[in-house]
Amino acid sequence: MARKIGSRYTAHQILGRGSAGTVWLGEGPEGAVAIKLLREDLASDQELVGRFVQERAALLSLDHPHVVGVRDLVVDGNDLALVMDLVRGTDLRTRLERERRLAPEAAVAIAADVADALAAAHAARIVHRDVKPENVLLDMQGALGPGGAHPALLTDFGIARLVDSPRTTRTTKVIGTPDYLAPEIIEGLPPRASVDVYALATVLYELLAGFTPFGGGHPGAVLRRHVTESVAPLPGIPDELWQLLLQCLAKAPASRLRAPELAARLREMLPGLAGIPPLDIDEPDGDHPEDEPDGTSPGAREETLYPPVAPGDATPPRGAVPLVQGAAPDSNRETHTSMRVPGPDELAGGAHGTARAPRVTGERRAGSARHASPAAVRRRRIKLGAAAAAVALAAGVAGVLASGDDDGGDAKPGVHQSEPDGP
Ligand code: ADP
Ligand code: MG
Repeated sequence: MARKIGSRYTAHQILGRGSAGTVWLGEGPEGAVAIKLLREDLASDQELVGRFVQERAALLSLDHPHVVGVRDLVVDGNDLALVMDLVRGTDLRTRLERERRLAPEAAVAIAADVADALAAAHAARIVHRDVKPENVLLDMQGALGPGGAHPALLTDFGIARLVDSPRTTRTTKVIGTPDYLAPEIIEGLPPRASVDVYALATVLYELLAGFTPFGGGHPGAVLRRHVTESVAPLPGIPDELWQLLLQCLAKAPASRLRAPELAARLREMLPGLAGIPPLDIDEPDGDHPEDEPDGTSPGAREETLYPPVAPGDATPPRGAVPLVQGAAPDSNRETHTSMRVPGPDELAGGAHGTARAPRVTGERRAGSARHASPAAVRRRRIKLGAAAAAVALAAGVAGVLASGDDDGGDAKPGVHQSEPDGP
């Protein structure tokens, strides 16, 4: 059923649903477009609409072959819609669920595309803040690149920042999965461009390994691992690629490469990766039974690859965490959710540990998420996403994520009025 969006666009059919709303295949004056119609509760939030309008210039200004372009923002009665370039393909999460791991050449080619997109964004003083496979779209109509990879385009710029902002009138918040959260955000520092580099390195690790470096188990444990654990090595990964990953997963933001340099290094590496098959490794046990509540682990690695936090970094006091009672989970997508806050017993249930070394395939361990069905993995993600949001909220991460006047990394566009309804 066709639906008018503003005066210039018509939405024809639903392409997908996300946490922020529904994405439609639509048509505008210049042909086919994707239209993200924001959720009603978001669209009726005057403060949020105001911020969208303010961000309009920044969102519209990002014009890059590896960024899903935003063409228009339409405020029309109760509708708030983001008109985007239509990408004919799938998202990287879907590909990863299908293939579990990518060959290093394809993984690096995709990561290089995303690094290019980030370089352009960072040059425009925009921090994405929500880099993850769900926000990388693969253009199946684009020319095949190294490793048979379709061009990758980064989407949802600015959306995390707008949608995740705190609104005192709401008892729940939308917040992303903790798997890609840079440690400095968890520590309470403002998100600068280097959080995107950390998240992208996490995505690249996941493309290679089939699991994220610090994911799995209780979301509180995921957050803690980002801050305290060293990343477990991936057996069989070319050393040059491993060193690059380590550098971009550094705990100290200043130690990470910047996006343009990361893109260049990844592209240089591509010829040497041709023909290398996907890694043959297994995820460390998803439930981390080896983790001990006192923070020690029998499988702990002695060395710390990076200092946990740069000297002088302000670390918020640990221990007492303000708990706010909220609503029941209502996740509609596994990596974003509005969430209740867990009880103290659930928070205390967080596993502790250090780096968990992946096992070579064959050394199977019962209950590993590695062997779960895609549906089970999805369910686990829903549960994790939900609980993670709660823990992050309790830890004040949501507030940090939402801080807009932080660092000069975010765009500061002028205020632009929304387009009037009529022509
Ligand atoms: P959210 O970020 O709000 O959770 P998404 O941006 O992930 O929502 O959109 C949901 C789905 O809509 C995606 O998985 C994808 O299938 C589809 N989609 C989103 N943007 C586009 C686009 N520009 N072109 C084509 N399909 C898109
Ligand atoms: Mg998204």
